[in-house]
Parts: sequence; structure tokens; C-alpha cells
Amino acid sequence: MARIVMKFGGTSVADIDRIRNVARRVKREVDAGHEVAVVVSAMSGVTNQLVAWVNQLAPLYDAREYDAVVATGEQVTSGLTALALQELGVDARSWQGWQLPLVSDDAHGKARILSIDTAEVLRRFAEGRQVAVVAGFQGIGPDGRVTTLGRGGSDTSAVALAAALQADRCDIYTDVDGVYTCDPRIVARARKLDKITYEEMLEMASLGAKVLQTRSVELAMNHRVRVQVLSSFEDKPGTLVVDEDEIVEKQVVSGIAYSRDEAKVTLTKVADKPGIAAAIFGPLAEASVNVDMIVQSSSEDGQTTDMTFTVGKADMERATRLLKSGAGVTGYAELISDPNVVKISVIGVGMRSYAGVALTMFQTLAEKGINIQVISTSEIKISVLIDEQYLELALRALHTAYGLDRQ
Ligand code: ADP
Ligand code: ASP
Ligand code: MG
Repeated sequence: MARIVMKFGGTSVADIDRIRNVARRVKREVDAGHEVAVVVSAMSGVTNQLVAWVNQLAPLYDAREYDAVVATGEQVTSGLTALALQELGVDARSWQGWQLPLVSDDAHGKARILSIDTAEVLRRFAEGRQVAVVAGFQGIGPDGRVTTLGRGGSDTSAVALAAALQADRCDIYTDVDGVYTCDPRIVARARKLDKITYEEMLEMASLGAKVLQTRSVELAMNHRVRVQVLSSFEDKPGTLVVDEDEIVEKQVVSGIAYSRDEAKVTLTKVADKPGIAAAIFGPLAEASVNVDMIVQSSSEDGQTTDMTFTVGKADMERATRLLKSGAGVTGYAELISDPNVVKISVIGVGMRSYAGVALTMFQTLAEKGINIQVISTSEIKISVLIDEQYLELALRALHTAYGLDRQ
């Protein structure tokens, strides 16, 4: 007998038929004698709709009310999934975040999980193997109000629950059958990976591959949760997220990720003197604007410098407004912002010991006539910022150049 957490994403619970399909999958595990906790997302499209309504009514919304609205999608699917299980004769009960409770901090809209009380779920496992169907994405904050864990947060609910229950497995069922070398919806020749390391998965997720939420991978890595990503529509093994030593053959580049959620801001001709970066980025940090890539280049006169950086698309307005209002640095010639950019990153633990990975990237993009606007690197990844119209061309060319194409 094993204890397993099964998480189903939005497309897997998109309508009543699919919820029935989920229930059948859960029943199979129950019939095999396992203890099962299920985590569900909202029906696909529902969270987007809820967010859109909030924005329509109040662009600078109160985050507590945002959470009150957007957490509702998961309430619906958890109840429906429990009902579908009951219809199949499986004892099941739904749980909202506050009922467990799954306690989070007070960062409404992007809350972090602090603790999960599993006592009652465990008691019911022991008593009659009742299935717990937990609403993903939501918790309860210190103010006693509902919180949400950031977009894609049901993955994190599932991994956190698996850690708290000391589950043997955490299966993440989604609309693709595993983690691929690149988003299979854009690169048709992407290859499914049997295994990927926590570290690479963490980079892939944080650089835009939304198949797993970044925090879920962090949690899985820290608590050594065995995560598998697999399809809810097909019966075949998915991708296991594992320790580095479980991977025998290490690729130099294991995957390519992209993010459309980027905007570029440039301040031209700011004084080239100590303290200038702190003056620019201090106020942005205070306003919780996350700055990602940064380049500084000297101007012709040698006295001034151009500062270019990227922020999330949703933060571009706020960042430019702050800078224009005179927060931080006031002396600059021009402030240019551009939301039509994407970030592409190549990732691989093998990069630590191989040179030339960056050169391949630069040459491949050059051959396609694609200009690189910003570059940033770390030990196991290289990222470039390019014009968004070249996204697909760049991904496919790089995928081929690194020998990742499926044969
Ligand atoms: P769910 O609703 O099940 O949580 P998501 O839409 O959040 O599903 O994540 C699955 C999607 O992630 C896939 O449909 C795919 O387009 C995208 N994706 C991006 N990069 C990858 C990758 N490297 N491997 C697999 N899927 C990826
Ligand atoms: N429903 C939430 C979202 O769309 C959480 C999730 O699906 O993981 O972001
Ligand atoms: Mg998701």
C-alpha cells in the first residue's frame, strides 16, 4: 500500500466528463489499496475569467478581495470531484484551504504556505480510506481570510500536501504527457524526458516553462518529494523529477524555456557614478517590482551610461510611472519601454563542464538574423531577450542546434 497525492490541472477538470475521467483514475488507485489525496485546479479558463473580472472592476485592486474572487474556481471543482467519486462508490470528501487548514503568510495573491494540518485527513485514511479532495491554489492567511498561491499554484498545493502527508508519490496530471525538452505546443520536435533533475526543473519552471509552478519544484527539492508529471488522458509513464545522481547520461543542454511575461525598460544617459544602480533599483524593489535582467552600457561621451532592465509585463506601467515621478534617479535623457520582448533560456547541468554552449546560442540566432537585446547567464543556464515576433523561429532553431530534436 502506498500513499499518493494526485493533482489534476485545469484541462483535466474542464467539464463534467473530464471530472468523471479523473474520478475513474482516482478509483483505480483506491482499488489498488492506496491512500489517496487529490488536489484539483479550477476548470480551465475559469481563473483567467475571474482575474479579468477583478481587473475590469478595479485595476488597482485590493488583493484580499482578489483572493476572495479567484479562489472560488477550485471550490467548485473540489466539490464536483468529490461528488463524481461518490457516484463511483468511492468514499470522498472535499476540503477547502481554510478547512484543513492550509495556513499561508499574508502575501495575498502570491502567498507562501506555512503549514498544513493533515490530522483529519490521516484519521479518515486510517478509518475507512476516505479520499480527500483538496481545493488547490488556496489557503488561509493570518488575518483569517482566504489567500491564493500565485498562478499555477495548485502544483504547489499538491507538493506541499505530499510533503505534509509524507506521501510516497506526487503525481501531477496535466494536458501533456510529461516534461519536454521545450514546450511541445511550439516545438513539434520536442522530446519527452523520462527524468529531469530538480535543479533543471527549477530553472525550467522559473524561466517560464509553466508545466510546474516554480515553488512546487522548490518544495519538492527541499522535501525530497517524488514528483511525476503525466497525462490525465493517456495511460503511459510521464517524467520523473529526480536527484542528479539518478541520471546516468547527462546532457549538456537538457531543455529550452521561454517567457512572454517580459518587458524591457531603458534609461538613457544616466550619470556614470557610484550609487546610480541603487538609486534606480531601490524604489522599484520597495514597490515590489521584480527586476530580472540588467545591462549597463557606456554612452559615447564616457560620462553617462544607458541602463536597460527587464520586469514582468504587468509591472511595466508601475516601473515607468515610478521612474517618471522622480523616484530614484532623475537625470536621464530618455525613458523607453517595450513590452514586445520574450526571454529564451537554454538550461543544462552539463554546462558546468562544457564550454561553447553560449556561442552556439549566439551563432544560431545570428544565422536567423535575430538580434539579442540582453544576455544573462548563471552556472546552468543562458538567457537572451529578443523581439517577440521571433519566438517560435528562435526556439525551433535552438532546439535543432543543441541536438534536442526527436528523431
Ligand atoms: P495545468 O492546467 O494542468 O496545470 P499548465 O497549462 O499549467 O497545465 O501546464 C501545462 C502546459 O505547460 C502544457 O500544455 C505546455 O504547453 C506547457 N509547457 C511549457 N513548457 C513545457 C515543457 N518543457 N514540457 C511540457 N509542457 C510545457
Ligand atoms: N487555477 C489556478 C490558475 O489558473 C491555479 C492552478 O491552476 O494551478 O492559476
Ligand atoms: Mg499549471
